[in-house]
Amino acid sequence: MIRYDLKCTGGHRFEAVLPSMFSDNPECECGAATARIPARVAIGGAASPGPSRDDMPTTWRGTRNGDKELIRSWHTKMVEREKLEEKYPELAGDRRPVLAHEGAFASEPVRAGDAIAAQLAQETFGTTSPTDNP
Ligand SMILES: [Zn+2]
Repeated sequence: MIRYDLKCTGGHRFEAVLPSMFSDNPECECGAATARIPARVAIGGAASPGPSRDDMPTTWRGTRNGDKELIRSWHTKMVEREKLEEKYPELAGDRRPVLAHEGAFASEPVRAGDAIAAQLAQETFGTTSPTDNP
């Protein structure tokens, strides 16, 4: 079953589900003949997921000193993005909170849930084994 957008010679637009691409187009309710309208995705190319959380302003200046219109616009975009990420979790990325991002963790920030005991022991004591006395 394939869903098609159709338009009749009288200008009415409607959707129809047809058994195959070779099926005849159904008549419009007004009785006129119909033609298939190419899908918008086919014309526009790949769909954009829109801006992500990382694109969102994170400073007061970034919000143009709290510009209400800008904040409202970002809120709308992020609500849309959240819906998209619920549907496609792979778009969400790593959303665990960052616990440390300085010093030894500058190149690779530590996030909640990371197993860091061994790395921390190596950095601090030069060994990962508690019984290994040099
Ligand atoms: Zn019609």
